[in-house]
Amino acid sequence: MLTKDRLTKAGLNIPFHRSAMGEEEVQAVSSVIRSGWLTMGAKTFQFEREFAQYIGASHAVAVSSCTAALHLALDAIGLRPGDEVLVPTNTFTATAEAVTYMGGRPVLVDIDERTLNISVVDAEEKLTSRTRAMIPVHFSGLPCDLDEIHALAKSRDLHVIEDAAHSLPSLYRGRRIGKISELTAFSFYATKPLNTGEGGMITTENDTYAHRTRQMRLHGISHDAWKRNSAEGEWRYEVLEPGYKYNFTDMQAALGVVQLAKCDAMFEARRRIAECYTQALQSMEALEVPVTQADRESSWHLYVLRLQTKQLRIDRRQFIAELAERGVQASVHFTPLHLQPAYQRLYGYKQGDLPVAERQYYRCISLPIFPTMSEREVQYVTSCVTDIVDLFVR
Ligand SMILES: *Cc1c(COP(=O)(O)O)cnc(C)c1O
Repeated sequence: MLTKDRLTKAGLNIPFHRSAMGEEEVQAVSSVIRSGWLTMGAKTFQFEREFAQYIGASHAVAVSSCTAALHLALDAIGLRPGDEVLVPTNTFTATAEAVTYMGGRPVLVDIDERTLNISVVDAEEKLTSRTRAMIPVHFSGLPCDLDEIHALAKSRDLHVIEDAAHSLPSLYRGRRIGKISELTAFSFYATKPLNTGEGGMITTENDTYAHRTRQMRLHGISHDAWKRNSAEGEWRYEVLEPGYKYNFTDMQAALGVVQLAKCDAMFEARRRIAECYTQALQSMEALEVPVTQADRESSWHLYVLRLQTKQLRIDRRQFIAELAERGVQASVHFTPLHLQPAYQRLYGYKQGDLPVAERQYYRCISLPIFPTMSEREVQYVTSCVTDIVDLFVR
């Protein structure tokens, strides 16, 4: 066992995330800049084609963020003011926020204690005559129980939009996330599995949804409006709907094409790190490592360790502070939305409303997991965690 002094002397500083950008990305963006066409154009469409092919989806529509993707997906299904949408409470605010953009009401659902994903049992209890859709989130990259979710949705005629911000690539019963539900939203935010700085993607099998989201991402103007300012473009265009300014850019797409080619290698790297963590930590009684399920594969966007708090003399906050003292930056995903002031004020949620998520929240620590982590860094993190447990175990 390493003492705290020796750990500190090792002098490692491990951020929660370090981006996996290289010279190839620099070159790709430079060449877009030199081409003179910076915003949405040929490079974006190339990225969309390659992304659709990677997922096996019929359509991929690139947009400015996953939040925008969720908004456009809710627009595509025609969500109306007052409609309710089931959203797990342990997600980023974007999932629920997008519902409010449409005048809808996000109805927060508790989670399954084992997987930390939306509880289908609780979802069923939260159904009302106004429920129109569900947005399951594949938390940490581990796919939700999609067959059960689709069975529930079918029985009540609900739409299913997947929030796949964490799940590139994730596999559910042999199928890639992104080709299973009507609409799926991905994120290319800086810390997400594929990084274009900012960005998002909608995948769908539905031609009408693809057409609608393509139109609405660029002001609701007719199809080829993106080239209205180019030589071969037509100056005349028609505004068919008041849409949004949610388009992608070719600079982002240049990053996306390079990152997509590395997507499997980055996934492999994260999977190996997760394996090392689990190997090193699973025998410690004060810790609970993430579940794996035989019929699905996580992208390992997050590695969420849970503390058996009764066996430790420190709480989760102090545990994270101890890691920070050793140079390891950990994080927490997520503060349940029903504990956030905005959702409490708007919808009357209060502490205790969704007890499973709350109990798990106080136990969760997200360890650093990113493709450029060296073996030495991974081992350093595990020795810090075991050191802290040994110091503070009851
Ligand atoms: C990051 C994240 C989003 C939002 O992604 P953006 O691309 O930043 O809009 C949505 N849902 C979840 C679960 C996320 O983690």
